[in-house]
Amino acid sequence: MNTTKTLKQIESVRKITESHMVGDGLPVRQVFSPRGADNTFSPFIMLDYIGPAKFPPMEKQKGVDEHPHRGFETVTLVFQGVLEHRDSAGNAGRIEAGDVQWMTAASGVVHEEKHGKELMRNGGVLEAAQLWVNLPAKDKMGKPKYQALTAASIPTVPLENGALRIVAGRYRDAHGPAATHTELNVWDLRIRPGVSELEIPESHTTLVVVVEGETLVNDSERVSGLELVQFGRSGGAIRVEASTEAHLLVLTGVPIDEPVVSYGPFVMNSQAEIHAAIRDYQEGKMGRLDDSAN
Ligand code: MN
Repeated sequence: MNTTKTLKQIESVRKITESHMVGDGLPVRQVFSPRGADNTFSPFIMLDYIGPAKFPPMEKQKGVDEHPHRGFETVTLVFQGVLEHRDSAGNAGRIEAGDVQWMTAASGVVHEEKHGKELMRNGGVLEAAQLWVNLPAKDKMGKPKYQALTAASIPTVPLENGALRIVAGRYRDAHGPAATHTELNVWDLRIRPGVSELEIPESHTTLVVVVEGETLVNDSERVSGLELVQFGRSGGAIRVEASTEAHLLVLTGVPIDEPVVSYGPFVMNSQAEIHAAIRDYQEGKMGRLDDSAN
């Protein structure tokens, strides 16, 4: 299946080597981070790749303790293992392999993110990703919301040499289950050796993360896990030739043309709004976790 569309140009390829522990149980390689005034990844703000890492059985659930978010969405994709979450509004849930949690923090959520209880008791492998998606200014102070997207709700589009899971957005006739505030695509791509081509809308920010495997992108750049490829907006397709089985994440979207001011877990449009977020969190206006609720 060859497209007749022009290929998007590769703008940069970045190898991800830095790694750090988030909380006491999420070993993260940060693929990209909030970049202040540099808004070239918009509508995406941050991507952390978690593991794959093997954990022994433990006494206590590891992860990230109570912390806030405001002004954007956190999208958690679990590939192996289980994560659990709990928040200040009394929501709690599990994210199992293949599932995605799409949390709209909007005006503010305080939550914790932990290993699943069976991962704690039995040990095992955890592999996941957390993507931060920006909200347009008009939605930043909206009501928080969760979308628990189960593996079964996420359609898979067969490709000649692979399979594309549509978490958000669409590919041809397949629509992802996530409701989004701006036009964007989040695709989880598994490919076999051979050539795979994907059509991607003109004018979308286009980021491809090679998580695992060896690939040749647009017939010119050798890219292997873990590397980030940023493409230009013009052009309507990309080509990936895999020489091994490969796992990729494809993130595309219409940029949000608004100022971005980020500070830790808050992503707003101005410094004044960041100060308000810090104050509201400190004053308990985003809620607190109720320890008795566990
Ligand atoms: Mn969080």
